Amino acid sequence: MSDLLSATTLQHQLNGSEPDRSDERLLQTVKNYWGFSELRPLQEEAIAAELSHRDSLVVLPTGGGKSLCYQAPPAVAGRTDIVVSPLISLMKDQVDGLLQCGYPAAALHSGLTPNELRSAEGQAAEGRLRLLFVAPERLLSSRFLELAARLEVRAFAIDEAHCISHWGHDFRPEYRQLAQLKERFPDASVHAYTATATERVRTDIVNQLGLEEPTVLVGTFDRPNLVYRVLPRVDRLQQIADVIDRHAGEAVIVYCISRKETEQTAAMLRARGVGAAHYHAGMDREARRSTQETFADETLDVVTATVAFGMGIDRSDVRCVVHSAMPKSIEHYQQETGRAGRDGLPAECVLLYSAADVLRWQSLVERSASQGEVSAEAKAATSELLIHMRRYASSMSCRHRTLSEYFGQAYEASSCGACDVCLEEVEGVADATSAAQKILSCVARVEQRFGATHVTSILLGADTEAVRRWDHQQLSTWGLLEGEDRKRLTSMIYQLIDQGVLERTAGERPILKLNEASWQVMRGELSVRLVMPKAKLRRTKADKESWDGVDRGLFENLRELRRDIALERGVPAYVVFGDESLRQMARELPSTVTEFLQIHGVGQQKLADFGERFLERIAECRQRSGAS
Ligand code: ADP
Ligand code: ZN
Repeated sequence: MSDLLSATTLQHQLNGSEPDRSDERLLQTVKNYWGFSELRPLQEEAIAAELSHRDSLVVLPTGGGKSLCYQAPPAVAGRTDIVVSPLISLMKDQVDGLLQCGYPAAALHSGLTPNELRSAEGQAAEGRLRLLFVAPERLLSSRFLELAARLEVRAFAIDEAHCISHWGHDFRPEYRQLAQLKERFPDASVHAYTATATERVRTDIVNQLGLEEPTVLVGTFDRPNLVYRVLPRVDRLQQIADVIDRHAGEAVIVYCISRKETEQTAAMLRARGVGAAHYHAGMDREARRSTQETFADETLDVVTATVAFGMGIDRSDVRCVVHSAMPKSIEHYQQETGRAGRDGLPAECVLLYSAADVLRWQSLVERSASQGEVSAEAKAATSELLIHMRRYASSMSCRHRTLSEYFGQAYEASSCGACDVCLEEVEGVADATSAAQKILSCVARVEQRFGATHVTSILLGADTEAVRRWDHQQLSTWGLLEGEDRKRLTSMIYQLIDQGVLERTAGERPILKLNEASWQVMRGELSVRLVMPKAKLRRTKADKESWDGVDRGLFENLRELRRDIALERGVPAYVVFGDESLRQMARELPSTVTEFLQIHGVGQQKLADFGERFLERIAECRQRSGAS
């Protein structure tokens, strides 16, 4: 293809024309390797800090584009920088992605064979790499120190830097050694990256790493392309099935609380004809790897997983993240939902919430504290995180606002147009106070000695063994809510607990108890609000608009091509091209190399490697639709 050649020549001319304007060189580098035509907020400042060897702390939300901040500088400066990263899978995916862009990078970790390790070290020693990823426990080994000295390393980037702080939500003891970096490499600058926002953790990172007058950059935590929904959990499996129906053929992650639940949920979805697989830490390595890989290469749509899944998975076209229960902190929630919509296109986050989740976490915290597994300090920190998460889930204020404010940022808009509250999707139960009075008086009738299941049975007028044993058909509240759905009624009970007008004891056999507020409700002095999920939720306007002008048939066709290429190369599909690139191709139908280079995500290497095949596929489709 002669077009291809001329574009490459053009690039050389551009490279030669203005080599000394550093910001231009930066933009050129970014376009060449990654095919991005501009930098995101704060990326420029973060890159400048690395280029000028000024220590920095960069706080950007998940998906905010932290990696580019440490990937670009060594490419611009022609040096080798070191990146410390906590997980092998994270390093591996980043290196894969970089190599597809023609960017020389390698990783040193325990997952490599001795030969691979030697080869990576060899490449590094010859100065051929721009980035070398290394696991924290390897950093201070004499072997690595020698290599780093030979390379005269001038900059270290610490990914997931919050792992150094025990105030964070993901403390890793091996990160503590990073405190020695500054002493060992007095001439190098250190750059910390994290998505964790609390002030305490940030201060801790700066202190532990010994950063000197660091440039501190804190990005916007709001993710406007995400729609947040919190639904009262009434019928878990049915509610998950409904969400998945809205995302047919798209990538979805469903976070479950137990291993068993991941299996059960995946089986339910498969029975409905959805391509789904489960993932949890109890599976053998091979099975886990297979789920991860089929998800990454887009042959699998839905993964039902415990939180063991995700770190290191950055398939960028995840259109929905479902939580079947409440996570234990907003940081966790932000990180897990952060896996949705990393390509910037609309995506949805659904949390199925019940106050039972809060009680469950609380008893876990209590138990590990009583067994001496955690310090009083750590217990207090955990409880505090839990309170904030609960407040988010049970409140009726804008989700975007609540999240932003939690991360210490004001949220300007009065309505976000992208959460269940602002979209007015939450449906109040008619006569909620009267239903609450019936529930509470039933708790009073059984003398506050029974749990939620039995109270529910009585209210429904059920003929269970327990009801018969206690002769509870005789109670005036027996059958008081006859005809109500059991799951809805259970949800109402937990909502009352959440609002503090009903209590549930801790322990193996929790019992419902009344408090002062319960009596106020029964006396009619206090009213309550109960909500139920709306029957059918629709896709949002922004979501629909993101498809404007896109030839859906061609888009699917290009996705297949992407999948084929990914399989040929043994890399995750998203490293070939993201959805945004494919949608743009299917909208603008580029027919020349110059037009193709204008597409988001098309850099020199990808143009050379894939340009011809994509252009051909687009031309074929054009011809076919032109002919018909
Ligand atoms: P983080 O590490 O902060 O979670 P990433 O570095 O993985 O985020 O970036 C998230 C996504 O944004 C990636 O798909 C990345 O390619 C893309 N991205 C980063 N910087 C830019 C940019 N300047 N323009 C367009 N896309 C970008
Ligand atoms: Zn809102």
